Amino acid sequence: MNVLITGITGFAGSHLAEYILAEHPGVEVHGIVRWRSRRDNIAHLGDKVRLHEADLKDMVSLKKTLAECRPEMIFHLAAQSFVPASWRLPSETFAVNAIGQINLFEAALDLKLDPRIQIAGSSEEYGHVHPDEVPMKETNPLRPLSPYAVSKVAQDLLGYQYFMSYGLKAVRTRGFNHTGPRRGDVFVTSNFARQIAEIEKGKQPPVVEVGNLEAKRDFTDVRDMVRAYWLACAKGEPGEVYNIGTGHTIAMKDMLAILLSLSTSKVEVRIDPARLRPSDVPILYSDCSKFKALTGWTPRIPLETTLKDLLDYWRERV
Ligand code: NDP
Repeated sequence: MNVLITGITGFAGSHLAEYILAEHPGVEVHGIVRWRSRRDNIAHLGDKVRLHEADLKDMVSLKKTLAECRPEMIFHLAAQSFVPASWRLPSETFAVNAIGQINLFEAALDLKLDPRIQIAGSSEEYGHVHPDEVPMKETNPLRPLSPYAVSKVAQDLLGYQYFMSYGLKAVRTRGFNHTGPRRGDVFVTSNFARQIAEIEKGKQPPVVEVGNLEAKRDFTDVRDMVRAYWLACAKGEPGEVYNIGTGHTIAMKDMLAILLSLSTSKVEVRIDPARLRPSDVPILYSDCSKFKALTGWTPRIPLETTLKDLLDYWRERV
């Protein structure tokens, strides 16, 4: 069986490729790359994955890719995935995330393919959540608070609409935050871990610059998340939507405290106003009972292990 991962060069996509190769022998993993994509996240996979040059904004390249690999499962992870960049690049964010997904869907329909497609939506879709609306269920209102979040709502609803209109087997996941090795250093956990690793090596003064430490998030290890993506794609009901998260919430200041406890360096923590978002989501945490009931999935890796692995990842790189 062939599977296609869009976003294979990214954080989650590279872990998903690794997971499929390790746990599902006999599955051939294909991925899309752009000519200038950084390959460091997948370099270790060598020729175990087959790469196709394509861009979500280019329908021709998507059609060629799908015609070549004729996937039975597509994991659609590629995106402009960085919330702060979406404020500066709202049109680009929408073009890649929403229009890009239309291109992918239309390419599959034109070729008369019938793959199961997992759509990597996000907890950011819920956006503004009232205190009495947590933990968040799939039925919560969607009140997105950033151009990124709006683009993810569009992806999500397009998944529903293409299923209803054309029977495309789209399964929508709303992943809550995930982290772990290879997380880009613009993302908060990884950024803190990198700063600590740099302080340990004397490359940064002993000050960790932070944004809003009061925000509360539900963090899953990326390796648990990609296992969930596989289960969602394999077992999810087409047209349905599933939250994926731990069901626990942690304030960023407590997450930072765990990271600091993993280091012997003494550091000062300082708020950098540039790191605060125009409208930040105060609390995100999941009720993922619907997904657990369907698949039996449960996260296996404790947050302390995830953060230690993330810190070690940066210790090897700074
Ligand atoms: P990354 O930013 O690490 O990876 C993004 C991937 O998308 C890269 O492989 C990138 O390729 C690819 N990409 C970007 N633009 C295009 C394009 N125009 N055409 C083709 N490929 C493109 O993201 P993550 O791995 O963290 O996230 C994966 C998915 O999960 C995203 O959809 C994200 O929105 C979603 N998500 C992530 C969460 C998280 O906490 N990580 C939470 C919830 C949802 P290239 O190397 O060429 O740039």
